Amino acid sequence: MPVTDPWKREIARKSLLYVKICRKCYARNPMGAKKCRRCRSKRLRWKKRELSG
Ligand SMILES: [Zn+2]
Repeated sequence: MPVTDPWKREIARKSLLYVKICRKCYARNPMGAKKCRRCRSKRLRWKKRELSG
């Protein structure tokens, strides 16, 4: 069953794009994260957004 609900697609897209990547262990963290949930490092960067808009 394909995901045709545009609202769900929007959520999925944002959750993919608005994510922080740890520079140390490359773990994905939620967008509001202050530090890595895996290694506690504060060196987080935004995931590169390739889709413009
Ligand atoms: Zn980490």
